[in-house]
Amino acid sequence: MSETATATKEKEKDLLQPIYDDPGVMKGLEKLDEATIERVINQTLEAEGGARLKILVETCVHCGLCSDACHFFMSHDRDPKYAPVGKVKQTIWEMLRKKGKVSKEFLMRAVQVAHTECNLCRRCVQYCPFGIDTAHLISLTRRICHKLGITPQYIQDTAHSHSATYNQMWVKEDEWTDSLFWQEDESRDEIPNMRIPLEKEGADIYYSVIAPEPKFRTQLIYQAAVIMHEAGADWTMSSLPGWDNSDMCMFTGDLEMMGRLKRRHFEDAMRLKVKRIVMGECGHAFRSIYDTGNRWDAWESMPVTIQHSVDFFEELLRLGKIKVKTKIQEKVTIHDPCNIIRGRGLQEKLRTVVHAFCDNVVEMYPNKEHNYCCSAGGGVINCGPPHKNTRIVGNSVKADQLRETGASIVVAPCHNCHGGIEDIIHANHLGMELKFLGDIIYEHMEKPDAI
Ligand code: SF4
Ligand code: SF4
Repeated sequence: MSETATATKEKEKDLLQPIYDDPGVMKGLEKLDEATIERVINQTLEAEGGARLKILVETCVHCGLCSDACHFFMSHDRDPKYAPVGKVKQTIWEMLRKKGKVSKEFLMRAVQVAHTECNLCRRCVQYCPFGIDTAHLISLTRRICHKLGITPQYIQDTAHSHSATYNQMWVKEDEWTDSLFWQEDESRDEIPNMRIPLEKEGADIYYSVIAPEPKFRTQLIYQAAVIMHEAGADWTMSSLPGWDNSDMCMFTGDLEMMGRLKRRHFEDAMRLKVKRIVMGECGHAFRSIYDTGNRWDAWESMPVTIQHSVDFFEELLRLGKIKVKTKIQEKVTIHDPCNIIRGRGLQEKLRTVVHAFCDNVVEMYPNKEHNYCCSAGGGVINCGPPHKNTRIVGNSVKADQLRETGASIVVAPCHNCHGGIEDIIHANHLGMELKFLGDIIYEHMEKPDAI
């Protein structure tokens, strides 16, 4: 074997290493035989691929114009393996071409590509002359992996937890309400008359969060409660399962479970007869409720209006319900989460709020709907520690973008973006501080009821 071939082989082995370490994939593969693989792939492609798959596959002219759109491609010296079209070639196209007769080695690489080398960020869709939705094709690959039982362990555990308890962190019912009482109690030293209303029927707002908030970031619930209180909002939170708006099942391809979780969330809001659901700062949960889950449930329109907190905060400012007390003087930059910017067009509202509270805002380039993904979204960060380096190495373009702003603070109104950018900041020694919009508002708004 030549030196180049040996080096390539070694590089391949390195890339596959995290999959060898992932029991969710390896144990699943052990149970599979050729006949099962062929049957599951063909059944899924036939029953669920439909005309959309046919059109996407037959329209692609393999021009590669989508390549530069992908942060993985750009961060790997333009290696075609990481181009959007390259990823589709290594997954669904090969399954189609071989009519499901693919090897276990092929499936190992397909899982790696679909779960850890594509964030389903849809940046590439904007740059394809035909608008080919690579993220949809990669999601279909994940669906096949789910049906074959070869999903990375960490994200599968989270999906299982959500299926069993209606929240992805296995927060028990009494722990959930205890966390809310605890936050209300904390407010005694700052805003003694603040309440976190539970089970209030007919409220204007049902406020929902992702399960990691009560588990790891309870201060975000506190801050949201302070903002609601000072804005004079008529709001409530639920005490029953259904309060978690997150959705790893959407990313593992367990669509049946995704539909069940979203139905529970909407039905919980309907039980309380609220006018709208306002969601905390999470992008994937918004995608799941606003875009994917509600459509899977086949509702003609959403049974309850959904509003992301970026939209809600802009509304509070515009209506004069919250007022700016002090402004941040340090240089601040803005990261645009894919699911609420490309997915919902909230880029200008996000900037309105950031500029209201910050005097020195500098844009990263490209920005708004052209901004690069954080490399954590799409369930990639949820595949856990074995795959952490894949996403950090796969997003040196984000590190460059951040560095070039010279900012000391990054605002990212999304949990997954926080996780991804935090790792990028640390790995690249950028020394930047990362904030949610709620952090900035809470710290710099007028609080007439504070003591
Ligand atoms: S997905 Fe679009 S841009 Fe990419 S290779 Fe195919 S046709 Fe070209
Ligand atoms: S990570 Fe984003 S840009 Fe890259 S292939 Fe996936 S959807 Fe396209």
